[in-house]
Amino acid sequence: MFNRLLSVIAPHECVGCLREGNVLCPECMGNLRVAYSHCYRCLEKTGGNRTCKKCLETSSLDAVYAAVRYNQPAVKHALWRLKFDRAQAAATDIARHLATIAPVFTEKCIIVPAPTATVRARQRGYDQACLIAKTLARLLPEQYVYVPALARLGTKRQLGNTREQRIVQLQDAFRVRRPLTAGVAVLLVDDVITTGATLQAAAGALKQAGAGRVEALVFAQA
Ligand SMILES: [Zn+2]
Ligand SMILES: [Zn+2]
Repeated sequence: MFNRLLSVIAPHECVGCLREGNVLCPECMGNLRVAYSHCYRCLEKTGGNRTCKKCLETSSLDAVYAAVRYNQPAVKHALWRLKFDRAQAAATDIARHLATIAPVFTEKCIIVPAPTATVRARQRGYDQACLIAKTLARLLPEQYVYVPALARLGTKRQLGNTREQRIVQLQDAFRVRRPLTAGVAVLLVDDVITTGATLQAAAGALKQAGAGRVEALVFAQA
């Protein structure tokens, strides 16, 4: 209890350099290994983080912008904070960084968080993707509008490890809970991308509901 109280009162300390003021300071953020531009599915190098032509035949995700590589202590630590401690401060630092690499949309674009499986989010009382997406929308120009359009359905555990098995299980995992303007561009936001199966399922649901281009912006690429 005492430790918990202390962690609430104590000022933020950078997980990289321990300096006060941020969960992950701009300098440490700048020193992280960055994700290279590639197709999220087959990892082939592509320009502008686009999904390659072949993978686009079976994916609704047009591009995935990832900021940093997951496998670095400071990144893992910042993501842990996002889920368990100082979530808003961590979300703010992550959103500030994502704002610098966000794809440019000149027309209206809705920023949609990819909701976490509901039980986990309910236990915590908040959803980390929503925190990042909301903060990001405030930092970007006015044509980017925060719209929590997706709901996550079911709490089935993910069984099977292949991408194909996961995609089948995730196909009906998302529901679009408000009408979308036909053809509207979407920027899907999440904290981590691993196989991309979750974001792909979310993009599929959005396109079925009428979305146009769907690109994803995530902090860490596993
Ligand atoms: Zn630092
Ligand atoms: Zn590909």
